[in-house]
Amino acid sequence: MNHDDLRIWSRRAADWAHDYHAGLRQRPVRAPLTPGAVAARLPEAAPETPEPMETIWADFEAIVPDAMTHWQHPRFFGYFPANAAPVSMLAEQLANAMAAQCMLWQTSPAATEIEQVMMRWLRGALGLPERFAGTIHDSATSATLSAILTMRERALDWASNAAGLSGAPVLRLYASAQSHSSVDKGARIAGLGQDNLVKVPTDAGLSMDPAALEEAIAADIAAGRRPAGVILCVGGTSVGASDRVAACIAVARSHDIPVHVDAAWAGSAMICPEFRDLWAGVEGADSIVFNPHKWLGAQFDCSVQFLADPRDQVRTLGLRPDYLQTLGTDGVTDFNEWTVPLGRRFRALKLWFLLRAHGLEGLRGRIRDHVRWAGELAEEIARLDGVEIVTPPALSLFTFALKAGDAATEALLRRINDDGRVYLTQTRHKGRFVIRVQVGQFDCTRDDVMTVAQVLRDLL
Ligand SMILES: *Cc1c(COP(=O)(O)O)cnc(C)c1O
Repeated sequence: MNHDDLRIWSRRAADWAHDYHAGLRQRPVRAPLTPGAVAARLPEAAPETPEPMETIWADFEAIVPDAMTHWQHPRFFGYFPANAAPVSMLAEQLANAMAAQCMLWQTSPAATEIEQVMMRWLRGALGLPERFAGTIHDSATSATLSAILTMRERALDWASNAAGLSGAPVLRLYASAQSHSSVDKGARIAGLGQDNLVKVPTDAGLSMDPAALEEAIAADIAAGRRPAGVILCVGGTSVGASDRVAACIAVARSHDIPVHVDAAWAGSAMICPEFRDLWAGVEGADSIVFNPHKWLGAQFDCSVQFLADPRDQVRTLGLRPDYLQTLGTDGVTDFNEWTVPLGRRFRALKLWFLLRAHGLEGLRGRIRDHVRWAGELAEEIARLDGVEIVTPPALSLFTFALKAGDAATEALLRRINDDGRVYLTQTRHKGRFVIRVQVGQFDCTRDDVMTVAQVLRDLL
């Protein structure tokens, strides 16, 4: 394929995309498929000679769409959303067309500078103080890993990158059991060890108990271990739990321990001032992550990290070999020094398109609708016989279960997802198997949301 062919095929792809999206409501949300079914339809080895594009296209249509779980389906209520507003898809098309690698300012000045401006726009939209500077990662996992690596370096006086960890004091991290597994992964990859991630007990409201945090830190110091960082969660993945950010930060501050806040999902809702109580005190954090690719509408992937002082992270992750020097342009920002990978995609473009095409007020309206509809749906479900709400809506996420117990609830979830009209996922809460409902797909309507109650009435 050359670029003349590409023009023809990308027009066809645009038409296909339109029809795919128009037909989503008629599709089951989750692919009704057994593992291995797709691989069995592909040849064992790559072709030696070129195949015609028509054949490749026909196979795509025959094999792929029916074997996907449709994340942009308006009745996708599983996990958290991975929204892709059409305008952000358009921006991705343009970024794809230029296919730039944006590691340095000089490898793509527009990518760096639009990223800087978008970080300022988002900082303002979230109500964060002006001292925060931001950057874009692929995922919250990478942002949290970067924060943990920075905590490690800081706790070891900037020596561990050079000297390694052998012989170093034992470092400790603190998070609640409601925190995401990416925190565990970060502790492992950073070489701190899973056992040194202290899971601080939570209070009745599922927030990290600040008094328990204080106790854990004091016990570690008394035992000769060195506290390196606290990771707080706002809108946890399981049931939407949030730590009491201000009180926990106060404890960390009193010991001069840095704090990272994981608001990967809930952060998007902070464009609405009325939800900011959920992370009150966040301006005291050193690092904050949120994923515009979840609830805000920026096509996956796009995870934003705000840093109160980016110099610590740049000191940890930045390397400047001769071949990466930006000659004659002192003072520019080379964002690869802020993140783990060197290479970077042009992710800021879709934020620019998204924020302009919808305006903050447009994006707030969607999030407010989702929160309201989740509340209405939870009330509707609470009225069904034999069903109980286990955790009430945290923003737009709640869980329910059958009073008959775990086995019955699990069987119900299978029936729901085999039915295909809606897609829900599960978690365990206080040992109990519960079904999560998360409202947040960019194009869902109130009717789509209420379909969950109808499906339950049909299947119970
Ligand atoms: C989704 C999520 C993550 C992980 O996000 P990735 O971008 O997929 O790495 C981390 N923390 C929370 C609270 C999340 O909801």
